[in-house]
Amino acid sequence: METGAAADSPAVDFLVVGAGVAGLRAAVELAGHGDVLVVTKESLGESNTHYAQGGIAVAAEDGADVGLHLEDTVRAGDGLVYPPAAQVLVSQGSLRVAELIEWGTNFDEATDSEGRRLNGRFLRTREGAHSLERILHANGDATGAEISRALVAHARRQPRIRFAEWTQVTRLVTAERRVMGAELAGAGPAGAGSGQPVAAPLRMRARAVLVASGGAGQVYAETTNPAVATGDGIALAAEAGAELADMEFYQFHPTALALEGAPRFLLSEALRGEGAYLRNGRGERFMERYHPQLELAPRDVVARAIAREGAVEGEARPVYLDMRHVKNVDLHRRFPGISAFLARHGLDLACDLIPVRPAAHYLMGGIRTDLSGRTSIAGLYAAGEAACTGVHGANRLASNSLLEGLVFGARAAQAMLADALPLIHTESEMPQEAKPLSAAEEQHLEATIVRLRSAMWTHAGLLREESSLREGLARQAECDAALAGLAMGAKRGRRLSEAQALSRVAEAILKSAVARTESRGAHFRSDYPRRDDQNFGRHSVLGANREVIFERW
Ligand SMILES: Cc1cc2nc3c(=O)[nH]c(=O)nc-3n(C[C@H](O)[C@H](O)[C@H](O)COP(=O)(O)OP(=O)(O)OC[C@H]3O[C@@H](n4cnc5c(N)ncnc54)[C@H](O)[C@@H]3O)c2cc1C
Repeated sequence: METGAAADSPAVDFLVVGAGVAGLRAAVELAGHGDVLVVTKESLGESNTHYAQGGIAVAAEDGADVGLHLEDTVRAGDGLVYPPAAQVLVSQGSLRVAELIEWGTNFDEATDSEGRRLNGRFLRTREGAHSLERILHANGDATGAEISRALVAHARRQPRIRFAEWTQVTRLVTAERRVMGAELAGAGPAGAGSGQPVAAPLRMRARAVLVASGGAGQVYAETTNPAVATGDGIALAAEAGAELADMEFYQFHPTALALEGAPRFLLSEALRGEGAYLRNGRGERFMERYHPQLELAPRDVVARAIAREGAVEGEARPVYLDMRHVKNVDLHRRFPGISAFLARHGLDLACDLIPVRPAAHYLMGGIRTDLSGRTSIAGLYAAGEAACTGVHGANRLASNSLLEGLVFGARAAQAMLADALPLIHTESEMPQEAKPLSAAEEQHLEATIVRLRSAMWTHAGLLREESSLREGLARQAECDAALAGLAMGAKRGRRLSEAQALSRVAEAILKSAVARTESRGAHFRSDYPRRDDQNFGRHSVLGANREVIFERW
């Protein structure tokens, strides 16, 4: 890393925001060509990637399944998948997964009758809306942790990659009509993590900045996402003037654990892939009333069916996952992580009905990019869940997102290299060190975040309508004003930055959802229950003026 002339801020060739699958894959690609700094808000393992359970969808190496994988992806996206993006995903996926395996990722392999591993013959499972078994998994139900482990280890072997853990990017710096760096601040306890957190806020220049900061599940009161998923990168890119797209499409996972006092732990779709039934409070298997693919219907269909079946006298009650009839699979071996988590809460996957309810899970929209991660602003690139290439359309096909991170992370890095932008030299203008909020202000901040998240769950959740969405916008504006008040006097720390990001993302979701007066994929409007291809077979785009327009890609 260059420290530069006395007046210059420090600089690095490439700055990568986020250490999930997209950021790490990009960093590895960049490392052969320059110095890379990977910044992550907590430790390297804390990302959505780490928590991914079910697996990674990929067509078999012989290419025979590429066409079907494309068809499934396009069908799940409900008329809004951008076909060239999906083509890139399914055709480049097997190459990227083969690299992962070469770098040490251990996917589950088939065994012979005596339990010996059949080297290189990987087990493949099936999930909702996939027409065949194509999903690789690791350690049963801990695929993301294994991919993250292997990628981190491989990245650590690259001498030109450095990590700054417990460090938050709080602003993108623009000059000469391009992004030329970012402001970084410490984001955790002193000494936390093995990577070096920044000690004091600093401005880091870079030839190119990649936002790979993941999704924003924390914008909803009920989510499967970890605490780091606050949409920071999306908000920072919007603040810098980049376009966002398809922000109304938030996927709600149908089956998060619904147990009083327990976190909204994800119960992977692979459970239904292995034969789990869904039953309502009366014990009836109900999916036949909603979709011919029954429990393996697209996620939005299953999630709304669960919400409807669970709505009893105006209250949301759980429905149940039932695996008691599944006798051909050793459920505790196939799903060790899920089994262990349930056991801690007194439930047994093989013998008990497991209460479930939908929760916010995956953002299909994000920072608008081309097929190589270029955003609408020079110097700024995006990949993974923070980005929107149009690959998922209105609804992501299960297990396509880890693959997306690999494929588009590598492509974004290649574009950063090809564009070969120079460093911009500026007078160093250090951001002020953030003063901590008082205890009372912190309480006010946390209460505001709770208000925002619950307004989003109530007004922009699974079932939407105009008046409720507008009510949501009013609540969001109130929260935004409260946050602006707290931010006065440079009192910005990690939580306040996150809260402001959540508010910006909430506004984008609400505005886009108001503008799309139809139902499609994950976006369901009770006042416009039909899909309207003539007017809305197009992507929503939110520009720097914060207004929504629709564009055909
Ligand atoms: C419980 C769960 C299960 C899932 N299961 C699957 C599955 O089986 N298959 C599948 O394909 N997908 C699954 N997904 C989705 C998938 O895991 C994610 O979409 C994908 O991992 C996103 O990768 P990413 O690299 O874009 O972001 P992430 O993995 O979320 O990484 C984001 C990174 O950005 C960092 N960051 C965020 N903000 C800042 C900031 N301001 N400054 C610095 N760093 C920042 C974070 O610390 C983190 O390192 C699952 C998701 C969850 C939550």
